[in-house]
Amino acid sequence: MENRRIEQWFCPECNAKTSFIKHKDSKYECSVCNTTYNKFSDLIDKQFERMGRNCEEAMNKNKQLGKGLVAGKVFYLPVADGRAYYEVTKVGPRSTTIKFREDIAVDDYMDMVLGDGGSFPTSRIEHLVCRMDGLQEIFLLK
Ligand SMILES: [Zn+2]
Repeated sequence: MENRRIEQWFCPECNAKTSFIKHKDSKYECSVCNTTYNKFSDLIDKQFERMGRNCEEAMNKNKQLGKGLVAGKVFYLPVADGRAYYEVTKVGPRSTTIKFREDIAVDDYMDMVLGDGGSFPTSRIEHLVCRMDGLQEIFLLK
């Protein structure tokens, strides 16, 4: 019997979005770093932990970058009952480039307009980033 594979999951160990090979003993192996997970639920648990850490890292980096629209800033938009996270990659006078941070969003939510990222009017992204700055400030004061 051929080994089953699960496609497009984030490896909690190497953070790559990759496929996992399911072995006969029900262990799952990352096809990038070869880390083996005893059970599927182990993989899920570790993945949630990893996403939490990624989120925390992004929020700490935001703090270091300070206020305003700067490359490297991460912001989120509420989508359904979850959040879609995006990172600013390049800021220009007219357009700003962002990428979808699917390694943070647990439920794989994507914003309808921003999609999986790309180039958008700088004023629009600045608005979203400043809103995020405001939210972070509220949390820090508490
Ligand atoms: Zn891996």
